[in-house]
Amino acid sequence: MPRIPEEAIERIKAETDLVALIQSRGVKLKQAGQNWLGFCPFHADQETANLIVTPGKGLFRCMAAGCGVTGNAIQFVEKFDGVSFRHAFEVLAGRAVPAFAAGDGVPKKYSTVPKLTCPLDEMADDSKLLEQVADYYAKRLAAPENAAARDYLISRGLDDPELWKKFGIGFSDRTLGLSIPHKNRNQGAKIRERLQEIGVYRETGREHLRGCIVIPIRDGQGRIVQLYGRRIGVQTAKEMRHLYLARPLGGVFNFEALKSREIILCESLIDALTFIQLGMNATCTYGTKNFTRELFEAIRAAKIESVRLAFDADEAGEIATKEAAQKLQSIGIECHQ
Ligand code: ZN
Repeated sequence: MPRIPEEAIERIKAETDLVALIQSRGVKLKQAGQNWLGFCPFHADQETANLIVTPGKGLFRCMAAGCGVTGNAIQFVEKFDGVSFRHAFEVLAGRAVPAFAAGDGVPKKYSTVPKLTCPLDEMADDSKLLEQVADYYAKRLAAPENAAARDYLISRGLDDPELWKKFGIGFSDRTLGLSIPHKNRNQGAKIRERLQEIGVYRETGREHLRGCIVIPIRDGQGRIVQLYGRRIGVQTAKEMRHLYLARPLGGVFNFEALKSREIILCESLIDALTFIQLGMNATCTYGTKNFTRELFEAIRAAKIESVRLAFDADEAGEIATKEAAQKLQSIGIECHQ
């Protein structure tokens, strides 16, 4: 993620009407010469007007001993809204410029307080939360700055945006954390804890699938139970390219394929999608070593008659082909390569 250029930060500081911004967050200010005075929103005190706002310098400061909070417009949003500096910058640079453009010095009245809404609901159950994370990643895949992720899909023959939409394909560009309230806020802490529980965050607090194309995997009821990540960096070692969340390797990719009598079984979601884009009924194992019981039982229950095994033509692929054929033939399914 590129750094915010210093000029852009300076421009936002200069263009933002600091008095109007602070008032929009519910703080009443009274003019006193060059300064504006009000109660500080960062400590509990409704008796002394300790907050001094100096629009000429673009700074605010609390004079109370033990508080002393100070900063510029971006830092005010950062602290007041409990978001990252970048998020605060985006609030002011993106949606909020017209609302907070410095004008004649007279604060305007605001009906809405600009805020970027948090895309995650900490109260949602696991599959709903995974759904919200997957939705966020899908939106990021469409972002102008993520052309490299789209180029990767196109390079793999997946050039149909309708297919991306249908399978909820996304990209983890490391920005998820920026749209969540700070961890020193109740909601921010709770969401992070939930993200760790469902495997989206590692214990270190980093996103597990960062830098990956992300594809949701669903169970028979259509609930997301797992996210597959494919690293797009060319430097990535082969064994590091395929990631799953640290939770059970459940679900079946593209359950719809099992409605057909004949299916293609390959070894990765991207391979399966390539066949699907060509109009074929394909599903996949999770690599050559993970032909799960769940997938096997789903194939059996769907009364599939014939499976074409399309694993890679390397040693691991050949072993997996043999093992899969044995399993499937043992329940009377015809296998082809
Ligand atoms: Zn204070």
